[in-house]
Amino acid sequence: MPYYDLKCSECGNEFNAKASMDERSAAAIQCPACGSYRLETIFRKVNVVRSLGDEACCPIGETGGCGGCCGSAR
Ligand SMILES: [Zn+2]
Repeated sequence: MPYYDLKCSECGNEFNAKASMDERSAAAIQCPACGSYRLETIFRKVNVVRSLGDEACCPIGETGGCGGCCGSAR
């Protein structure tokens, strides 16, 4: 049975659930925090593409500013 990283659309709780494909597609998984069935699947492997992080691109402290990746070269 695969594990799913899920995020609740209602309360934002992130949790891990083990469920069969059928259970997942039938939305039979509940948020343990609020009981909602509105869940988003988080694909961890996609995290290689970082969300607009701060320390991800800008070595502030070393160069004293953005290297241009933020679109605001100072
Ligand atoms: Zn929830």
